[in-house]
Amino acid sequence: MSGELGVVGAGTMGAGIAQVCATAGLQVLLVDVGLEQLRRGQAAIGASLAKLEEKKRLPRPASEIAGRIRTSVDIADLSRVELVIEAAFEDQAVKAELFRRLDLACAPATILASNTSSIPITRLGGATKRPDKVVGMHFMNPVPLMTLVEVVRGLRTADETVAAVKDLAAKLGKTAVESKDVPGFIANRVLMPMINEAVFALSEGVGTANDIDTVMRLGMNHPLGPLALADLIGLDVCLAILEVMQRDLGDPKYRPAPLLRSYVQAGWLGRKTGRGFHSYA
Ligand code: NAD
Repeated sequence: MSGELGVVGAGTMGAGIAQVCATAGLQVLLVDVGLEQLRRGQAAIGASLAKLEEKKRLPRPASEIAGRIRTSVDIADLSRVELVIEAAFEDQAVKAELFRRLDLACAPATILASNTSSIPITRLGGATKRPDKVVGMHFMNPVPLMTLVEVVRGLRTADETVAAVKDLAAKLGKTAVESKDVPGFIANRVLMPMINEAVFALSEGVGTANDIDTVMRLGMNHPLGPLALADLIGLDVCLAILEVMQRDLGDPKYRPAPLLRSYVQAGWLGRKTGRGFHSYA
């Protein structure tokens, strides 16, 4: 990667991805649907960079890193980037339409990567005329701190495409692990049933949210309990992933806990709204 890289979606993940790419010295064009979303993304990047700078964990000044990120509300501006990482909503219809539009907007050689947590890459590749250049690049939250990237190879993804995103992951200081293209990949195949079971346990009164999280932290040595982790990921994102796994794997064991659905309906989405299974006032 020598030229500019595009990131689509300036939310929790897109902002983090833009930040780590700029920190590694790359030029980034960050695209979202509106100026307000871009402003929020830039504010999140600024706050994260300030914290890392204070801890002397940045290789270059925060202002220089932030200066490497341009923004736009028009995906047509991605016409010259070498690679796009898509981090829009976890919704098959939204992503398929976005990949169709990215395919039209970008140069033929551009790689289109998705940060999807669960949607098959083969399906996103099928929305384009370049399925060989469509690949999964699944970063973990918070992106600046977590060192794993799951690389997902769709049925028609070319070896060179997989190699290019593995190279990029290494450049960003991340460890890449390849996963087969099945809903949930490796990370959420294992993580989401645990989070879902914790929500069932909460709704059945097996323990309080604090009790459940404490058991998993102190008893299993997890740095965060499953309910606190769900709050960090976003309860809407967890619900969307479980729905994809339940539908596409066809197994009722992935049925989302009704309490998870209720929280999402109530607008209690976790840290980003100040309340989820825990409060963040
Ligand atoms: P988010 O809701 O915080 O942000 C999504 C952003 O995408 C919003 O700013 C929205 O305006 C923008 N967007 C939606 N449609 C768009 C379009 N057509 N064009 C441009 N921008 C568009 O979501 P998030 O938590 O950042 O998740 C983004 C993706 O990353 C999802 O696919 C999710 O599954 C995946 N992911 C999330 C996590 C997590 O912990 N939150 C972890 C790994 C992967």
